[in-house]
Amino acid sequence: MPRQSGGHLTAGRTGLEDREPQARPPSPAELDAIFDALREAYGESQWWPTAATEGPAQRLEICLGAILTQNTSWRGAAAALANLGAADALSCEAIVALPEDALADLVRPSGYYHAKARKLQAFCATVIEEYDGDIDALLEGDPDEVRARLLSLWGVGPETADAMTLYAARLPTFVVDAYAYRLFERLGCPPGPRRYDVYRDFLLGAIGPDVHALNEWHALIVRHGQRTCLKSTPRCGECALLDRCAFGQSEVG
Ligand code: SF4
Repeated sequence: MPRQSGGHLTAGRTGLEDREPQARPPSPAELDAIFDALREAYGESQWWPTAATEGPAQRLEICLGAILTQNTSWRGAAAALANLGAADALSCEAIVALPEDALADLVRPSGYYHAKARKLQAFCATVIEEYDGDIDALLEGDPDEVRARLLSLWGVGPETADAMTLYAARLPTFVVDAYAYRLFERLGCPPGPRRYDVYRDFLLGAIGPDVHALNEWHALIVRHGQRTCLKSTPRCGECALLDRCAFGQSEVG
């Protein structure tokens, strides 16, 4: 999901560096309290940021952005999307028609730009060849079916597939990232080992199929990770979760 800061995301210090985190999943009441505190601190988000405001163009832009933000900052992905827009290349047909080197040049700000150019072209070629150019046909179906379809595409991993499923298809799933591992480990209530499906399955099951809530949960976790629960220097003294965070209390002494 959109990230403001650069670099490959890692969870950072969580107090569990020396051992595999054991499961001590948050209770429903704890989850509610965490959500309420974060929402009080940051307000409502309702992502995903796009230039297009609705329709298939917006859904395609979300999918392209989900690929472009892999392992990099949202700022870089947004700059790459702006370049594509300025080149009138925010369509599957235009992306496939561009020479790979020219496309790589346009998406250079997102990093790994040759690989990302290939991923964008593979994604767009699939939409054209298998879905008659209709992004909505790719995103249509029940959540598990859509997620599995996206996961089967080259260059689309679990986080990218879940971002597309939740934000473009508007179907229920949980988007897990390093901010989520960091938060729940630091709070002392990790759903289990730091593995994507462990976190996703637990959080999706606990939150339920409310797309609005799932959108907001992920947005709040990312904003918290970017602004307060920083990787190396968490701002625990000003954190809305300090009273329930053993790691934070050890930081502030
Ligand atoms: S108290 Fe510190 S470590 Fe705990 S959630 Fe807040 S910022 Fe993160």
